[in-house]
Amino acid sequence: VLEAVDVTVHYPVHRSRGETVHALENASLSLRPGRTVALVGESGSGKSTFARTLALAQEPTGGSVLLYGKPASARGRRARRAYASRVQMVLQDPFGSLNPLHRVRYLLERPLRLHASVTDRDDLERRLRGLLERVRLTPPERFLDAFPHELSGGQRQRVAIARALAVEPEVLLGDELVSMLDVSIRLEILNLLATLRDEEHLAMLYITHDIAGARYFADEIAVMYAGEIVEYGTAEDVTQAPAHPYTRLLLDSTPDPDRMEFLAGRTNRGDGMAPDTAEDDYGEPPDLVHPPSGCRFHPRCPLARPACGTEPPPRVDMTERHWARCVLLLEPDEDAYDHTTTPE
Ligand code: SF4
Ligand code: MG
Repeated sequence: VLEAVDVTVHYPVHRSRGETVHALENASLSLRPGRTVALVGESGSGKSTFARTLALAQEPTGGSVLLYGKPASARGRRARRAYASRVQMVLQDPFGSLNPLHRVRYLLERPLRLHASVTDRDDLERRLRGLLERVRLTPPERFLDAFPHELSGGQRQRVAIARALAVEPEVLLGDELVSMLDVSIRLEILNLLATLRDEEHLAMLYITHDIAGARYFADEIAVMYAGEIVEYGTAEDVTQAPAHPYTRLLLDSTPDPDRMEFLAGRTNRGDGMAPDTAEDDYGEPPDLVHPPSGCRFHPRCPLARPACGTEPPPRVDMTERHWARCVLLLEPDEDAYDHTTTPE
């Protein structure tokens, strides 16, 4: 349905100093009906930029976004609206994304009127109830006249999902959409999304810093580091036979909340960039204004070789649908590269 082909996003910061953020480099992926691709990486790795590019909220500097094989365009209001009726984005913070002054009824009616041109009162009412039932907010009359602050975090996120579904999209882009919820609620929302994906054949992009959740929920996983996809494959291959040292680090650190917190970026400054105060054995998160030369992961890579600092890593195919970018993959007999042992 939706495809990113070699999408690159560079944008200027500190114009006077002529600095550029290299947010995304030659990133490609395809979203298919009824399938989920998880985009996994720490804060500031370019995941949100990638999602915004797919939503056409961010113009790529290079590469293209294709909808059913044709270049997607959102130039002008009509094109933007037409695109939004097919590709919807759900954000992390249901508090921030739902206008607190409006009741659920209004929040859901708007997209129905605007995009689906539903005006008949009875038809509207029927659709509103249907939407709430689809996200399991029942009975609907309990929720239609509620304000966002009267709902729990999980209920608010269900309303946000219902609002996205109101336009009957073919693609759902979810940016960290369960990361602000209690752990006990996350699974419920993921199960709901899985049901919607399967029953309504939605194509989904699931953005997360939690590779364990991605493994549970996604069909394929793309691991991002410093604006680049460093590994791509089926969820099973990437989590059972991780090929890139960064993916292994993510998997190794999953049970340890402290390290996970570090990898996820200790605090989110709200601009999607990693904090600049984080320190760890593995060094600082990448600076995308001055990305490291060679392999962008080399300053933090426990297995880095001298050449890694100067030479871009090769893309190596492990199977037809599993690849990674790391020079060690060209040396299959190398002891240092044995994913059955855990480096300390
Ligand atoms: Fe580490 Fe070198 Fe592989 Fe990059 S190319 S992940 S620095 S070993
Ligand atoms: Mg983000």
